[in-house]
Amino acid sequence: MKLSPNAPCPCHSGAKFKKCCRPLHRGAPAESPVALMRSRYAAYALGDVSYLQLTTDPEGAHYRPDTAAWEIELRHYCARTAFEGLEVREHGEDGDTGWVLFHARLRQGDDDLSFSERSSFRRHDGRWLYHDGAQIDPRTP
Ligand SMILES: [Zn+2]
Repeated sequence: MKLSPNAPCPCHSGAKFKKCCRPLHRGAPAESPVALMRSRYAAYALGDVSYLQLTTDPEGAHYRPDTAAWEIELRHYCARTAFEGLEVREHGEDGDTGWVLFHARLRQGDDDLSFSERSSFRRHDGRWLYHDGAQIDPRTP
């Protein structure tokens, strides 16, 4: 999906796309785990599957060696999901590791697929990558 650089960023930051996640999608390194996580959310919303693959840690749990099959799955997921909101609740970093606790509002048709997750990130060669994530029970305060 093509999005105007002046449109609101799909990561729901309130900033324009060109001032937010677009530079990262075009190759700029994310400054922090939060910036990377937001840019990945925006990439999901835009169906930018290659960015999602590129920013997944090959040593992490979500990397798939069969990148062609992975790409097809991601495309289907992006196409049928509406990415309606993102709220970063907590985050931190320590050297080359970092984490972000967020709540994502997602919808597939009438189904509310919103979830909270604590994602972990690793920095390799100056670039933050998504390493792993654990969903948080929404009833847990
Ligand atoms: Zn953004």
